[in-house]
Amino acid sequence: MDDADLRLDGNAAAGLLSEIFAVEMTTATETCAGCGATNVLAAAQLYMQAPGAVLRCPNCTAVLMCVVQLPNGGLVVELSGIRSIRMST
Ligand SMILES: [Zn+2]
Repeated sequence: MDDADLRLDGNAAAGLLSEIFAVEMTTATETCAGCGATNVLAAAQLYMQAPGAVLRCPNCTAVLMCVVQLPNGGLVVELSGIRSIRMST
């Protein structure tokens, strides 16, 4: 058995991803990749003056997340400032 036998197309994760991203996110607990602080997302600082929405850590002000709505209706979510997210299912 090699790696190709173990690998699935990302579409196979559709059910799992819909469970993860269909929950109330403001009560989810995030851990900041910058300082390691853990807070609910509702405690983050939201800035709407940029081309998109920017959420910053309430502890160190590092960027946690950027969300940009594209003119054609798409959405881009950048999460590199969050080490992990814990949510209720
Ligand atoms: Zn932080």
